[in-house]
Amino acid sequence: MPLAKPFVLGNWKMNGLRADGEALALRIIEQQRRGERGGTLGICPPATLLAPLAALLDGSGILLGGQDCAPAPAGAFTGDIGAPMLADIGCRLVIVGHSERRHGHGEDDRLVRAKAAAGHAAGLLVVLCVGETEPEREAGATIDVLDRQLAGSLPEDATAENLVVAYEPVWAIGTGRTPSVADIASAHAHMRARLGALVDGGSALRLLYGGSVKPANAGQIMAIPDVDGVLVGGASLDAGQFDAIYSAGQRAAA
Ligand code: PEP
Repeated sequence: MPLAKPFVLGNWKMNGLRADGEALALRIIEQQRRGERGGTLGICPPATLLAPLAALLDGSGILLGGQDCAPAPAGAFTGDIGAPMLADIGCRLVIVGHSERRHGHGEDDRLVRAKAAAGHAAGLLVVLCVGETEPEREAGATIDVLDRQLAGSLPEDATAENLVVAYEPVWAIGTGRTPSVADIASAHAHMRARLGALVDGGSALRLLYGGSVKPANAGQIMAIPDVDGVLVGGASLDAGQFDAIYSAGQRAAA
C-alpha cells in the first residue's frame, strides 16, 4: 500500500463508546478535509467501533485499522477477531505485537508472527510493534531485543509494501517519557539496516516511532531521518492534539 510520509496512526486502545468515537472520528475527518495535506493518516479504534467508523471514514482518505487480529482466519476462537473480518468491515491495516499484547497478554514472537501472516493473508497492511522494556534498556539490551523481536516476529512474506515496523519502547508508552532523539535515531537506523538484511527490499520499509508522542515533541521526532511517522496512543483521543501531531509531521517532512 503506498503510504505518503508522514504516516500518523492513532491507537485508541480500549477507549470510546459509540457516540464519543463517532464524534472524535468526525472531528478528525473535518480537520483532514480542511487541511488538504500530504502524508497518511490512520486510526485504530476498538473493534466495537469499526463498523460505524468504516461508514464515516468512507471517501475521507483516512485509513481504518484493527488493534490486533487472531492468527487463524475463522473458527472456534471465542472473543477473537479474524483478519478477514477486519478487511471485510473496511479495515486496511492491523497492528500486531503491541506491547500491551506482548506483555499484558503474554504474546510471544511466534504468535505475533502468525498474526502478522494472518493480516497479510487477508490483504491488510501489518503494523508490527517492537520495543524493549525498561529493565532491558537499563541492561543495555535495546538493540538485542529489537533484533530478537524482528527475527522472531517478521512474517516470511513481509515486503516494504505490506509491512510497517513501529519502534515502541515499552517504558515510553503512556508514561510521558521518551527516548532522546539520538536514541530513537540509532534504534531506527539499526532497524533499517537489520530489515534490509532480513527482507528483500527491507531497507525501504516504513518505520514509525511510538511512545508518548505529543504535539510538543512530534516535530522533533518526525525530523529524524529514519522515522517515517508515529504511532500515537493517548494523544490520538484528542482530535486537536492528533491534528497538531500530524501538522508537525508535515512540517518536518517538508
Ligand atoms: C501506543 O499505545 O502505541 C502508544 C504509543 O501510546 P502513547 O502514545 O499513549 O504512549
